[in-house]
Amino acid sequence: VAEPGGSIKTPRVTQVALVVLLSVVWALVGLISVATMTIGWSGGSLRTSLLALANWRSVVFIVGFPVLAAGELVVLRRFGRRLGWGRESIWLWAWTLWFVTIMVLAFGLWGLRSLAMLRMTWGLLVPLSIVYMAYGMGRRLGTEPHCAKCGYPWRAEIGEICPECGSNWSQRGGTKPGRPARSLVLVSVGVVLLLLSFAATLSPVASGAIGPLMPTGFLVEQAAATGRLSSGAWVELQTRSLTPEQLRRLDEGLLDARMARDRLDRSANAWLEGRVAGSLMSPELTERFYDEMVELELRTREISDGAVRVEVVAINRMTPFGATDVRIIFGGFRVDGVLAEGTRFEKFSSIFRFDPWSISRKPGAVFPGVTVARRRDSATVVTAEAWVCYGSSTQLPWGDAWGGAWGMPDQPAIPSALPWVRHVTLSTEVEAGD
Ligand SMILES: [Zn+2]
Repeated sequence: VAEPGGSIKTPRVTQVALVVLLSVVWALVGLISVATMTIGWSGGSLRTSLLALANWRSVVFIVGFPVLAAGELVVLRRFGRRLGWGRESIWLWAWTLWFVTIMVLAFGLWGLRSLAMLRMTWGLLVPLSIVYMAYGMGRRLGTEPHCAKCGYPWRAEIGEICPECGSNWSQRGGTKPGRPARSLVLVSVGVVLLLLSFAATLSPVASGAIGPLMPTGFLVEQAAATGRLSSGAWVELQTRSLTPEQLRRLDEGLLDARMARDRLDRSANAWLEGRVAGSLMSPELTERFYDEMVELELRTREISDGAVRVEVVAINRMTPFGATDVRIIFGGFRVDGVLAEGTRFEKFSSIFRFDPWSISRKPGAVFPGVTVARRRDSATVVTAEAWVCYGSSTQLPWGDAWGGAWGMPDQPAIPSALPWVRHVTLSTEVEAGD
């Protein structure tokens, strides 16, 4: 005979193990939450992901939440047992408390920017809300058998037929343990959670909210390391105040990304253009901004026996539809110091029509070039001269509106208002042949 209150206690070790296991699971959930957002953002860059995880807020969140959750479970179990709660009730309340905690903690750490984190949490609430509703609808209290259909209390002396609904109690499943006690509170909580989770998950406000969640340092690092940020994150970054070091890191990182990837997207390019236009970028980086946008190089190819074609090729790193436009005034080729006839575009077409889309890639694109006969005895020095002019497209009209005449000897007429003009001299040697 079991004595009242003398039930077998769950060994303490098992309880501790349970709490530890849950804490580990919750730490993993926190880690995955932060990591997924980071990886989704950085396009898989391990370095930026690690940087985001190393942020103190992320650490507090990942470590703090499991500790709080474990503490809450311990307290709830003691408290619940004293009140005579069933195991299911304790777990339901624990889940609820955890979700409240995760939201309060995220809000405390990131303020309104925690919206994205909360949104993920809301998603996890959908299954929980269904459990709430199902448990609330079918809840039974106690262990005494009751009619499975209508809940009339079973008693041996009544017989086999339920006096209330006429069910046959002797059939398998005719009676069930516990008195039916449908809980409107639990069902309502489930309905509210479900509605809220849908509202929050589908909210257009929340859908672009990953950027606001991230700390400024992470946004800067992310953009600087990859040259990419979502448009929402760029908008968010505009609202942050960046330290001079962060600004420099961003300028430099975006320029590096342009070199590595050949082209920045419009948002990243617009950031650089804004910095340059406001004279906010360092002179050294401003020079890089312009000079690396369009680079010219000489390319040599054999066209027939003893004849070599030397061409100027533009390496184009412009972003289409950017505010900065480029025109190249081509000053012609010199072969061993002598201007090659007809290679300078002196009149109507003095501006080399620079196709910002594809000049460096388009097969069959016509580049300024000169054909050189390979000498037998000595190398031939070929030089080319050009002015790469940067400005807005209104400053750089097509046609003969400017640059159509060589003002001074060997100098094209370039408008003085242009923000950047680079004079380029390229040189190559055509080696002697046999
Ligand atoms: Zn019945």
